[in-house]
Amino acid sequence: MTYKSIFVDGTLCDISVENGAISAIEPLAENVIRERLASGEECRYAIPGLANMHTHSAMTLLRSAGSGLPLQRWLGEAIFPREAQLTPELIHRGALDACQEMRQSGTTAFNDMYFSIESTIRAARETGLDANIALSVTDGDFDKGPFVSQFLETAAKMAESDDHRQRITLSIAPHAIYTVSGPHLQYLADFAAEHKTLFHIHLSETRKEREDCISQHGVPPVVYLQRLGVLDRVGSHFIGAHALWLDPTEIQILGEYGASVVHCPNSNLKLGSGCRFLYTELRDAGVNVCLGTDGCASSDNLDMIEAMKVMSLLQKGTRCDPSVLPADEVLKVASANGRRALGLPDGNIKVGNKANFFLVDINNRYFKGLDLLTSTSAKRHIDFLNRLIYAAGNAVVSETVTQ
Ligand SMILES: [Zn+2]
Repeated sequence: MTYKSIFVDGTLCDISVENGAISAIEPLAENVIRERLASGEECRYAIPGLANMHTHSAMTLLRSAGSGLPLQRWLGEAIFPREAQLTPELIHRGALDACQEMRQSGTTAFNDMYFSIESTIRAARETGLDANIALSVTDGDFDKGPFVSQFLETAAKMAESDDHRQRITLSIAPHAIYTVSGPHLQYLADFAAEHKTLFHIHLSETRKEREDCISQHGVPPVVYLQRLGVLDRVGSHFIGAHALWLDPTEIQILGEYGASVVHCPNSNLKLGSGCRFLYTELRDAGVNVCLGTDGCASSDNLDMIEAMKVMSLLQKGTRCDPSVLPADEVLKVASANGRRALGLPDGNIKVGNKANFFLVDINNRYFKGLDLLTSTSAKRHIDFLNRLIYAAGNAVVSETVTQ
């Protein structure tokens, strides 16, 4: 299969894909470009697939539920009672909708936390996305025997049906420090270390979570997890979703362990959890900062292009500095950093890599004036990314390629 007239990093190319991998990227000579443009051939732009690093995909079933409630009331009044009604079949349908929605906005990998994981695994397989799917645990539903057997049986079934075209991994996700006790967190960290899985947890999402942790344990959440030995056990396999209320010591600790955190700007804004995500500080401390949408009950959609825009604008606005987190850097946060946290190969568009990109239609008002012939590739690329992220959004994604 050859994708013709595709911009890669600002250079017009033909991209060939064979057996799921990119077999050739051929830059076009200037006379060929002029001929193709003159003949009205439509050019598209290729961007590495995005990695939605924190979601609960089946929550498409609860889209926009409980709008206007703060986190604890939202969970208790709008979410947990509805989730109690969900069946594995409903969860499969919800996750399938989610995977299709993610593909439509350029996402090729996602990091999920929910229950009835086999339903979500099935949906990921059916839509060709790479995924890490974590079994969500709270104290209320935790029982070691059934937990271990569910995990091991699912892992064995996954190994049997693995078709090697996509990578789906299994991991564990204690819901949060306020829903999972210290001994259970320690047990789950041991389990994650033993089975070499990721350890995905909601972390310091609200000021209340932080204050409650200090009043109950005398230290803030990251120090509490370190003191429990969780970070020593799971190290760089730790993924903290939200990580919004951190102090400098906690940021330094996360950096020392090479941990990942996932910013979910739309969810944080919608639930009124806060808006001062410490991106620069985390990045500079060596933390792998990723981007996610969260589930559709709090972020309302799974659109990672919109999440890139909101993340970038929040950094610029809250720091009164328009140079912070430019378009190419927020794209790296939303793509390469996520893949790194998932242990996936880099998703760059280059020969030998698995086909993992989305194509953007540039024949529309948002890209009018994008200089196709005289600008340098680097300038064109930056101009394109600015228009995609800040202006066009997901409506211009014409195809997502995963093989
Ligand atoms: Zn969440």
